[in-house]
Amino acid sequence: MESIRIADLSKAYRTADGEVLRVLDGISLSVPTGSFFSLLGPSGCGKSTLLNVVAGLTDADGGTVAIPDDDRLGFVFQEPRLLEWKTVEANLAFALDGTDIPNGEYDRRIEDVLTRVGLQNVRTEYPRSLSRGMQQRVAIARAFCIEPDVLLMDEPFASVDEITARELRADLLDLWRLNEVTVLFVTHDIQEAVTLSDVVAVLSPKPAAIDATVEIETPRPREPDDEATWRYYERILSLLDGTSRTSPEDRR
Ligand code: ADP
Ligand code: MG
Repeated sequence: MESIRIADLSKAYRTADGEVLRVLDGISLSVPTGSFFSLLGPSGCGKSTLLNVVAGLTDADGGTVAIPDDDRLGFVFQEPRLLEWKTVEANLAFALDGTDIPNGEYDRRIEDVLTRVGLQNVRTEYPRSLSRGMQQRVAIARAFCIEPDVLLMDEPFASVDEITARELRADLLDLWRLNEVTVLFVTHDIQEAVTLSDVVAVLSPKPAAIDATVEIETPRPREPDDEATWRYYERILSLLDGTSRTSPEDRR
């Protein structure tokens, strides 16, 4: 079973001086239901564009994205994007308002997810009183409180410190397992992709195409400095910098 099927997606932007900037070049991929699937590529290669097309926030020029009709989508971006004038619980309730989940369930869901990410004590705080890491934690809680089928994440830990990022990654994996959600995760960080994912799709510089997909087969939890993590790191690095001598099964 697959939750996201992307076929032959292409996209170009027209820049201010009238030039055409090709960003996506025939992207095709299939994300299995319940998997943790990462898109890895250098800055500016078109990762956010691709995720925004999947989210329906940007139109592609060609190709298709198929997600089952009744699947609920959640998003987490690089910035928390919280509503500053609402409390933490009101931010989560606002996300629930966008679904068909009955009001009578809000309280239980909000309490559950906040407890799970260690935020039960800040339920009635406003975002500005929280650290950046805590705000991103709220953004993750907000995404999970609607119990999404598919969660789209665009470099969610790129702007928090590494210690906080490690905690957030562990929390994310717990939530992923518990909720059986399909995660499509964008990152430029090889170690992050390897420690989190079932599959890493390696994107070329723009216009982005899929250069290779690598299945990460080591059991979790994985540490950034595990030997297996390093082996995958080196293999993916060589794919990214185009010097790969990897086996043909990486290529497609
Ligand atoms: P990534 O997320 O991998 O860093 P993006 O998808 O944000 O890459 O951007 C890919 C390229 O498209 C970049 O060169 C960026 O400057 C350009 N780009 C992104 N959005 C727009 C836009 N709305 N108009 C014109 N160019 C854009
Ligand atoms: Mg981006």
